[in-house]
Amino acid sequence: MVYNLEIDTHTRQEMVDITRQVEEIVEKSGVKSGVCILYVPHTTAAITVNENYDPTVKEDILTTLRRLVPENYPYRHTEGNADAHIKAAIVGSSRVLFIENGRLVFGTWQGIFFMEFDGPRRRRVYVKIIADAAG
Ligand code: ZN
Repeated sequence: MVYNLEIDTHTRQEMVDITRQVEEIVEKSGVKSGVCILYVPHTTAAITVNENYDPTVKEDILTTLRRLVPENYPYRHTEGNADAHIKAAIVGSSRVLFIENGRLVFGTWQGIFFMEFDGPRRRRVYVKIIADAAG
């Protein structure tokens, strides 16, 4: 079974902390030990794990991606969102996390971020929970 997490973004480019929502899905699944696979079915959005304590980290990541991949450049894709496709390709569309004792395993400062590059839009993240094989 795949859970469908819906996210409303509010600006063109932003990082949305979805740690709590994913943890709720893990709790609901009842799985105590296994893996949690997160997949973003969009071509102009992505997902990552990074620091969710100091908010300036988010700003630095977005600022740096903007510097590396400017919005205005003579790209061949003329839909006006070529930079968003490239940023999504760099960051990636999936992540795998571990579940132990019914909880996601993180480092001290880590959280899960949905990365919007062509918002605002209604977006989704697919969440697949797989329990360890018995034994
Ligand atoms: Zn496009």
